[in-house]
This record gives sequence, structure tokens and C-alpha cells, in this order.
Amino acid sequence: MSVQIPRPREHAPSIGDTRLLIDGQRIDALSGGTFATVDPSTGAELAQVAEGRSEDIDRAVQAARRAFESGPWPRIKPNERARILHRLGDLILEHRDELAGLEALDNGKTFATARAYDITGAAELFHYMAGWVTKLEGTTIPISFPGNFHTYTRREPVGVCGLIVPWNYPFGQSAWKVAPALACGNTAVLKPAEQTPLSALRLGELALEAGVPEGVLNVVPGFGGEAGAALVAHDDVAKIAFTGSTETGRAIVRGATGNVKKVSIELGGKSPNIVFADADLPTAIAGAAAGIFFNQGEVCTAGSRLYVQEAVYDDVVAGVADAAKALRIGDGFDPATDVGPLISGAHRDVVRGYVEAGVAAGAELVAGGEPVGDAGYFLSPAVFADARPEMSIVREEIFGPVVSVIPFRDVDDVVAAANDSPFGLAAGVWTEDVGKAHRMAAALEAGTVWVNCYGVFDAAMPFGGTKQSGWGKEMGHAVLEDYTEAKTVCVDIGPAHPAR
Ligand code: ADP
Repeated sequence: MSVQIPRPREHAPSIGDTRLLIDGQRIDALSGGTFATVDPSTGAELAQVAEGRSEDIDRAVQAARRAFESGPWPRIKPNERARILHRLGDLILEHRDELAGLEALDNGKTFATARAYDITGAAELFHYMAGWVTKLEGTTIPISFPGNFHTYTRREPVGVCGLIVPWNYPFGQSAWKVAPALACGNTAVLKPAEQTPLSALRLGELALEAGVPEGVLNVVPGFGGEAGAALVAHDDVAKIAFTGSTETGRAIVRGATGNVKKVSIELGGKSPNIVFADADLPTAIAGAAAGIFFNQGEVCTAGSRLYVQEAVYDDVVAGVADAAKALRIGDGFDPATDVGPLISGAHRDVVRGYVEAGVAAGAELVAGGEPVGDAGYFLSPAVFADARPEMSIVREEIFGPVVSVIPFRDVDDVVAAANDSPFGLAAGVWTEDVGKAHRMAAALEAGTVWVNCYGVFDAAMPFGGTKQSGWGKEMGHAVLEDYTEAKTVCVDIGPAHPAR
């Protein structure tokens, strides 16, 4: 379809400084190299960005190391560190339009979504994590060893954290890692995805403005195989936190073995969204459509396997297809837009390839799946009916707006089908039967189960995957375990007082 897409850009922010941020300074890459970041809505270059390579990663890690070993950040009073992180949350809110604009330009997502969820959520997370700084307590432990001991744990920061984030939530994912890392007193090197480096650089600047000392948060854009791999392999990095594909996650686990660094990884998904015949159908249909098409389907938790009980199967297929057709595809700055472009031409080709494979395998394409527009990487939201378990559209992560709708008979049938996946990131259940909802929540192999809702994220809710969807949790108090070490201290305090 060659449709002219309106591109209202009067609210687009200026892009600003695109050099590396190391030790509080904006600097060029040592090689002088740069790479283009592209507007997925037009395919045009937005800016040239300094390309960090292994020697730049080394400089950034050394700056973070100095900031950790001799700088104030791990040592300042908790209330002062908390105040700075609160200020950073406030600054993010003050710059909400600018940051949402950078996301819309660089990723293609809608400005409205970025503003309401990505940027607001990131600010909430800094505020939430600021609250934990004064509560990173250890425990006192009664022990049975002969003698008299005072035994306790201290929660200490781990050191320099390498934070590697993907392109689907450039600012949100940066916040998910930077906020807990800094709250726990660590220092960090953040490597944004090569497709979307702009908002992470701005986060680094805002952190400095909030009072985070120089060298505590360094931001080095660059390619995964060069800058990312160098960060993962660096001996002075104590921990890697990564979000991205399962394949890259495996490479990261292998790359981190040299100094046996701690690794937390949030990887792919193929999440089942399950509609029972007793569900409130209009709500379930709207939730199923939003569960897959939100953010162009470029969401690790996208509800891409939609299991529907036989009695309501035809109604749900028709409802989700109608919802897909009603979504307005367009530029992220157009307030009328529901669905923006995919991140790149190459990624759109991958998603299109899955649509073609689904058709070739005999699934019925009842909506979408077509490139749209005169330029940019738009694809209409696709709905497949009668998808079967062995098809690639049901088994593999597509990371785009493609849903496969699959009928099921009963609870046993759908639990077996839903759990028949190497992934275990998230799941959805739609039913009016509260007992069944809780039984399903227990039976599903997933890090998060949403009941009668989908895609609810909150700073206080731990998020992470089981099976091949990853290790560790982000957000909530659970994430503090990943960014601290518990040190056990055992002190012989001499003979016990007779009265004690
Ligand atoms: P995608 O394939 O969708 O681009 P990836 O999982 O490859 O997703 O990328 C997520 C992040 O991981 C990006 O910041 C990317 O640069 C980085 N990355 C890719 N490959 C590697 C690697 N071998 N080592 C470290 N980081 C990597």
C-alpha cells in the first residue's frame, strides 16, 4: 500500500550532543568514528553518533572504577544519595516532552505512549529506587557454632555494572538498570542499542545535572559485537545486566565467564494469552489486541500466542481482527497514530518473513501483515487464525505485530499448550472464575501472570523470566539482590553474660 503518511514534526526536540559521555565529559570516540541513527518513520538519518569501541569502553570502565573505588557515590550518606536520585526522577518529569520526543524520533513509537508510559514510568522508578537507598539493611543471624558470636550481613554494592539495553524501550530499559544500580551505590557503563542511542545520552546528562558525580554513570553508544562484547568481557566490570534476544543472551553468558561476573539477563518471550469462554469477552478481546499490538508488538512480553476456548473462538478471532484493522498506522508524532513503524527495514523483513511462513504453513491470515506507506518501516498488524503448535509463528519470537490465535478445549489442554515453549516470560488469563484464575496463575510457567489485564508494569512489581527468558528480576525490591552483595560478618564477642 503506498499511502502518504503525514509527518507532523513541530514538537520534535532537538537532538543535542551525540558524543560519548565518559567521566562527566562529552568526548569523541578515540577512533573518531561515528554511526548514523535513523528515523524509522522515514528511513532518513537523524544524526551521526560517536561510535564507542573497545578502547572507549575501557576508558569508561576505568572512569567508573575510579568513581567506585575513590569517589563519593558509594560512600555518601544514604539520604544524600536518595535525594540525588529523587532529583533525577524530578528532572525526567520536567523533561518529559523532550525525552518522549527523542523516543518517538529514534524508535518510531508514539510520542503519547512514550510520554505516558516510558518516560513517566522511568521517573517513577527513580523515585521508587530512591526510597530503597535508606533501607538497604542487612540481618543479624543467631548461629549455633560453639562460642559466642555476633553475626550479621551487610548489603554492599557490587562495583562497576555494565548495562546493555535494547531498542524497543531505549529510555525505559536504561532506567530499569541505571536506577537500581545507582541506588545500591554502584557505578555504571550504559551501552544503548545502536538503533536508539539518543535518549540514553540525555539520561546521562540529566544524571549529572541532578548531582550524580562524574564517572558514576558513563554512556557509550556503539555496536553490540564491539562495544557490547568489550563491556561483557572487561575484567573490571563486576556485573552485567542485559535485556535483548535469547541468542545474544547466550553470547553474553559465555562472554562473562573470564572474571565470572554476575549476570542478569531478560531475554525473549512467546507469551500465551488465554481467553476462557467465561471471560468478559469485549474486555478480553480489547486486552488481547492491546497485548500484542502495543508498541508495534516490539515488546518482549507481547501476547503473541492467543489461546481461545472453542465456544468463543470465532467471536474472538473476529473481534481481534476488527481491532487490528481499526488501528491507525502512522508517524509517532501524529496524535491520531496507534501503531508506529518497526525499528528498521531489516527487522520489518524478518517480521514479514514470519507472516509469509505462516501463510505457507497453512494458517489463515485474517488481517494485516502488509507493508504500509510511502517511506519508513510500517507494517499493518497481522492476525492469524487456525495456527498450529508446530508452526514457526507459534513457536518463535517474532517481535512484531503478529498474533496467532489457537483454539483449546479445556484447562489441561491449554496449560500443556501454553507451557510447551522454551520461553517463560509472561502470560495472560481472561476468566470470570476467580478460582480458575489462581489455579492457572500457579500452573503457567512464566515470570509474570496477568489476570483480566495485560502488560501492567510498575516500579514495585518484580519482573523477569523463567526458562530461556532469563535470570534475575528487575524492579521491585527483588532487584536489589542483583545489584548488591551480602557480606557475612562473624565476630567472636567473648563469653556470654550469664544472664543472656
Ligand atoms: P536485536 O537482535 O533485537 O537487535 P540484541 O539482543 O542483539 O537485539 O541487542 C540488544 C542489545 O545487546 C543491544 O544494545 C546490542 O548492541 C547488544 N548486543 C548485541 N550483541 C552483543 C554481544 N555479542 N555482546 C554484548 N552486547 C551485544
